[in-house]
Amino acid sequence: MKIIGIDLAGVEKRQTGFAINNGFNTKTKVLYTDDDIIEEVERSGSKLVTIDSPLGYPKGRCCLDYNCKCRKYGCMRVGEKQMVKIGIRIFPCGFGGMQKLTNRGIKLRKLFEKKGYEVIETYPGSAQDLLGIPRKKKGIEILRKALKEYGFKGDIEKKEITDHELDAITSALVGKLYKKGAYIALGIKEEAQIITAKPKNKETLKKLKELGLI
Ligand SMILES: [Zn+2]
Repeated sequence: MKIIGIDLAGVEKRQTGFAINNGFNTKTKVLYTDDDIIEEVERSGSKLVTIDSPLGYPKGRCCLDYNCKCRKYGCMRVGEKQMVKIGIRIFPCGFGGMQKLTNRGIKLRKLFEKKGYEVIETYPGSAQDLLGIPRKKKGIEILRKALKEYGFKGDIEKKEITDHELDAITSALVGKLYKKGAYIALGIKEEAQIITAKPKNKETLKKLKELGLI
């Protein structure tokens, strides 16, 4: 089963990582525009699109504009607060540096859902933390090696791979865990839930139980 992973950039002129995982075989690309992303998804033959980007606003908000009345509902979603509680760093969807990404993610989500795709929000950094895979800030080669040890083949071997493509592979991996039921969903549906890997670590599992997340 083919699963799409997108490590979305906030703007079209920056690199978006794109991956198609077919089991452990992966094909990756760097893309830029929405049109290119849509074209690649439609060509892939996959029905599940996973996106590393917030895909919803905090409940009560209609936008992230500073001057809108909806601003009183804050800039953080329930799922982001839960992520912090289990010890994982995350940038809230309404923070200054995240607003463009959140708006772009929501736009693409709506578009893909209209075309009949299932779309889920992932946060590869959290899945990497929960699966014991190093994050990209430790270095591209370290993350590449860990994903190869996890079993990935194909474009993961290509010389000039970017950190964005590696996160796209991880995002699609979360899609696979989602299909297998080996995932947790943080937050509430009205805000778009954040799907991530179900951890094996006992302490994290305990925290998740305390929060009523498993
Ligand atoms: Zn608003």
